Amino acid sequence: MKEILVFLALFHCHPELRIAHDTWTHFDRGVIYLSNDDPARLVHEAVHACQYARYGSAKSAEEWSRREREAHKVEIAWKMRDS
Ligand SMILES: [Zn+2]
Repeated sequence: MKEILVFLALFHCHPELRIAHDTWTHFDRGVIYLSNDDPARLVHEAVHACQYARYGSAKSAEEWSRREREAHKVEIAWKMRDS
């Protein structure tokens, strides 16, 4: 967990992690729901937690897409960090 938080800080993301479990992985109004232990998915959803803390809920499909691209970019960077 510490490695994830240090990594996210590189992207100016300091999430308050409220984590629950569900049958699918998603972020909803301040809570990260995880369906498995994949750290890359936690990184992705933690970016959404930072976006939510900073901007609130996405107000348009364009904004939702922008946030999704940003979370995906950080997730890919996480997967590539040791290569
Ligand atoms: Zn996402």
